[in-house]
Amino acid sequence: MSVWDTIVGQEPVIATLSTVVANASEVTQSWLMAGPPGSGRSFVARAFAAALECPQHGEHDPQTCKVCSSVLAGTHPDVTVLTTDKVTIGIDEVRSLIETSEQMPATAPWRIIIIEDVDRMTERTTNVLLKEIEEPAEHTIWILCAPSAQDVLPTIRSRTRLLTLAVPTNEAVEKFLLGKYGPDTPLGAQIEPPVTPQIAAQAARIAEGHIGLAVLYVTHRKMLSERTAVIDGVLALKRTSDAVVLADRISAGAARQAEVEVDERIVREQASFRTSRGFSATDKIPPALRREYNAIGKESDRKRSITRLSRDVLDRTLTDISSIYRDVSVLQNHAEEGAGLVNLENRSAITDLSVKLTRAEAIDRVERIALARRRLNGNGAPLLVFEALLSGLIPPRRL
Ligand SMILES: [Zn+2]
Repeated sequence: MSVWDTIVGQEPVIATLSTVVANASEVTQSWLMAGPPGSGRSFVARAFAAALECPQHGEHDPQTCKVCSSVLAGTHPDVTVLTTDKVTIGIDEVRSLIETSEQMPATAPWRIIIIEDVDRMTERTTNVLLKEIEEPAEHTIWILCAPSAQDVLPTIRSRTRLLTLAVPTNEAVEKFLLGKYGPDTPLGAQIEPPVTPQIAAQAARIAEGHIGLAVLYVTHRKMLSERTAVIDGVLALKRTSDAVVLADRISAGAARQAEVEVDERIVREQASFRTSRGFSATDKIPPALRREYNAIGKESDRKRSITRLSRDVLDRTLTDISSIYRDVSVLQNHAEEGAGLVNLENRSAITDLSVKLTRAEAIDRVERIALARRRLNGNGAPLLVFEALLSGLIPPRRL
């Protein structure tokens, strides 16, 4: 067992990183980790950090090791992770990171700074960072993460060693889901109904390489049934009234789901606040810390997070709807053998649709979905955006 076991479908990257860790005296100090959302790039960054800090290079069960487990949990004093759910990373945040980066590590061999979404930096902010990643402090390692190398400025690219993550295969994701949440595992034993191989396969397929999403599908079965309802609903669209009903269901469902996810995140953050300061779940938080503690999940922040997340959920729904027309194209081009269908459960309805639509009409549907995404990003009202989209997806009636 090793710290790398937490990572799915990235064997070549792990091979590179474990070699780097074994020769840590010559380690490159500035890294750019590129991987699409869900490829698990932040997990890879944390595992890399753990292996660098750990006296045994992470080559053991991370839960039995204080160093590994605290790095993975985000509580190690020498590893700083900048995550943001803001659109851009602020210049002051980066300045304070730089200050941290210049301090000697307190207990471990390296001071490690992970920036999760370095693509969310303006050019001005990036410029503040350049000198640091060009010549990091002697004991400092920077790990910058972004969806792809093209998403960051060339000035960053040229100063970092690029590591590109693969989109994990369906088989790798399926295996991971069963290994972690299968009915015979400690986590899986608490999941009702149990995660069967069939469910794991479906979750892996419809998440299209997005591990975090695949995990949500098996652990929050309601999400899976919501998605199924959307796909079934789109495939059953016949008249405008169907479109109106489905649009309403989608926009209300997104708001509900966002609320659940945000509240779960607040509970997790409160728990990690307690553990990192040595309080148990039932200990009273002393007055001096109460303000900081209560700030987690403050109502105005909570509301804002829910709005933002519900946009993400709607965006995901657009991706789901898009997968129908992707499958239609696969069938129209007789490419199922190589490409496979995402929505295997709906094979017969999708086959019907692939006959009903011309190729041009199938492409037109994909463009309509892209338009809906632009409207949502431009703050369009979800209900109206989806009504317009779904009405436009109704297959034409031919005489
Ligand atoms: Zn360790």
